[in-house]
Amino acid sequence: MAKDYYELLGVSRTASADEIKKAYRKLAIKYHPDKNPGNKEAEDKFKEISHAYEILGDADKRAKYDQFGEAAFSGAAGGGTSYQDPFDIFNQFFGGGGGGGSSIFENLFGGGGGSRRRNPNAPQRGDDLRYDIEITFEEAIFGADKKINIPKMVACDSCHGSGCESGSGKKTCPRCNGTGQTVVSQGFFQMRQTCGTCKGTGQIIEKPCKKCRGEGRVRTEKSLQIHIPPGVDNGSKLRISGEGEAGRNNGANGDLYIIIHVAPSDVFHREGTDLLCEIPIDYMTAAVGGVIEVPTISGKTKMKVPAGTQSGIILRLKGKGVVSLRGGARGDLHIRIIVETPAKLNKKQEELLKAFQDSLGQDNYPMHKEFAKRAENFMK
Ligand SMILES: [Zn+2]
Ligand SMILES: [Zn+2]
Repeated sequence: MAKDYYELLGVSRTASADEIKKAYRKLAIKYHPDKNPGNKEAEDKFKEISHAYEILGDADKRAKYDQFGEAAFSGAAGGGTSYQDPFDIFNQFFGGGGGGGSSIFENLFGGGGGSRRRNPNAPQRGDDLRYDIEITFEEAIFGADKKINIPKMVACDSCHGSGCESGSGKKTCPRCNGTGQTVVSQGFFQMRQTCGTCKGTGQIIEKPCKKCRGEGRVRTEKSLQIHIPPGVDNGSKLRISGEGEAGRNNGANGDLYIIIHVAPSDVFHREGTDLLCEIPIDYMTAAVGGVIEVPTISGKTKMKVPAGTQSGIILRLKGKGVVSLRGGARGDLHIRIIVETPAKLNKKQEELLKAFQDSLGQDNYPMHKEFAKRAENFMK
């Protein structure tokens, strides 16, 4: 089960809950054993995607998975297969009864049910919020603690979200008598409409709270201390549970998503957990070999350059890259050597160089020798 859950469901890491749900739904239908009788491969696939959805379909589990990978779910369970029966999830998801026969598909596609009017008094979850933050290259690598201010709707502290001035309450809407709907007659027809006075709730507030004007929520700017874990990269998304907008009717708060933007470094280029650094060295060191100084994210280090080093080759410093956000080994630092040709030579230097060049033969330039041969063959 080492597969990436996002890959399994064919969604991006930034997919919304809705997109994940849709992707799972599609795959679950495709691979459901009822549709693939006796097909072991389909059954395994079905179990895999169900497991992936069990994690990614749950906001809390997903956040843990984003931060710690699968490690967040193994271990703690104490060995053995700890995950839920995939058919259970499937049934929960589609609201199906027992797993037998085609009942599930009837539930999925059949007309049964019909859409019921949403209860306006039911708890309603608050909206999710997005906050874009720019951090430095170093902060992305080592992590950081940041203070941010987020404008958002929070539950009104004066009425505790009820919308009623203290000591007062709600009373039945006189216009619709608490049904939340009014009936309009047009000729032979009668039409039901949502009551405009109570907006379908069937209740009106006697005395609206002065602070929130009966809304139960107020707009405010909340200051929040957030921890950015080491290893985040451009586009990483952190989810902070319950820090979105306040819900309505005692509904849960939404979540806050922090989108990370990393400023580029002028020394390193980052590719996942690997880093690349281009270092110009003098042609003398390249020719006879030597030791050069190399910058790493944890300070300077020295590196041996072998004799006869050519421009463009890449040397690797293992484990000198970035820690992985999802656990596992640290990346590597790749050093691309650029052999620098000396410039602005004076007369004397030119003469010295010419004398030196005259002392060299074809064997000192194996690359050139090789190429000359190939070019000649080509033009024959
Ligand atoms: Zn009403
Ligand atoms: Zn209030």
